[in-house]
Amino acid sequence: MYVDTHLHLHEPWLSDKERITEANRQKVIADITQNKIVTWAQSCDIPSYEKTLMYSKQSEYIFPSFGILPWYAQEYADRLDEVAELCEDAVMLGEIGLDEKYARNKASVPHQRPLFEVFLKASEKHNLIMNLHFRGGLEREGFECLKSYDIKKAIFHSYSGSPDMIKEINDQGYYYSYGAANFEGRGNPREERLTERLQLIPDDLLVLEIDVLQKSNFQVPSEVFPKMLRAVAEFKNIAPEEVEAINHKNVCKLVENDPKLKHMKQMLKI
Ligand SMILES: [Zn+2]
Repeated sequence: MYVDTHLHLHEPWLSDKERITEANRQKVIADITQNKIVTWAQSCDIPSYEKTLMYSKQSEYIFPSFGILPWYAQEYADRLDEVAELCEDAVMLGEIGLDEKYARNKASVPHQRPLFEVFLKASEKHNLIMNLHFRGGLEREGFECLKSYDIKKAIFHSYSGSPDMIKEINDQGYYYSYGAANFEGRGNPREERLTERLQLIPDDLLVLEIDVLQKSNFQVPSEVFPKMLRAVAEFKNIAPEEVEAINHKNVCKLVENDPKLKHMKQMLKI
C-alpha cells in the first residue's frame, strides 16, 4: 500500500502559472481513492487548511494536516489563540517550522518562533505527528526547539541541514521525508545536496513524500509514487518493494498509538 506523508492538494505559494488546476485536483483526489493511497495532505495557512479539510471529505484516504508556513507568521501574530484552537481538532500538524533565508516576507521572521511554539505545545499535549519545514539556516534552531519540548513524532521534510546534525537527529528518533520533488530535481545542486543526505539516514527513520505535483507533465499520484520508489531504490541500491516496505513500516510506527488516526490504522492494517 502506498502512503504519501506529504502532499499539497492546494499550492498557495506558487504562481498562478504553476498552480494545480481544479480539473487536475479532482483527478488527483479520484486517483488517491481508486488506488487507495493513504495521503497526508499538508496545509500552509488557515485558508489552505480549510480547503484541505474539504478535500479530505472527498476521499477517506486523504488525511488533513494543519499547518502555517513560517513565511506567513506575521499574518498570525495576533491570532495565536485561534491557531491553538485549530490545533486541538487537528489530526496531524504540518507544514510548519522556521525559515529565514527563503521567507517570502522578511517581516515574518520575528513572528516565526512564537507561532511554531503554538504547534509544539499542541504536539506535546496530543503526541501529534509534525511535518517540519526547517530551511534557510534555521535547521539547527528548529531542532533545538523540538528538543525543548517533549516531541516524539517529528518528520524533517526534505531535511536540508548540515550532514553533521543527522547523527543527533537520529539519536532523538526523529524521521526524515524525501521523495519525488528531490529525485525529479536531481542534477540541480540543491536537490543533489538533499538527496546526498539520504545516504546518511537509517532505514528505520525514512518516510516518503510526493510534496508537489508538477503542472508540466502532470501525473497523478499512482503514476508518481512507483517512479519515486524506483528512484529511491536505485539510489539506495535495493529493490523498490523494499523501499515501499521501509516506508510502510515507519508510517505504522508513527501511527500505531495515535488515537486520532484510528481510521488510518485500519487502512494500514495495524
Ligand atoms: Zn510541502
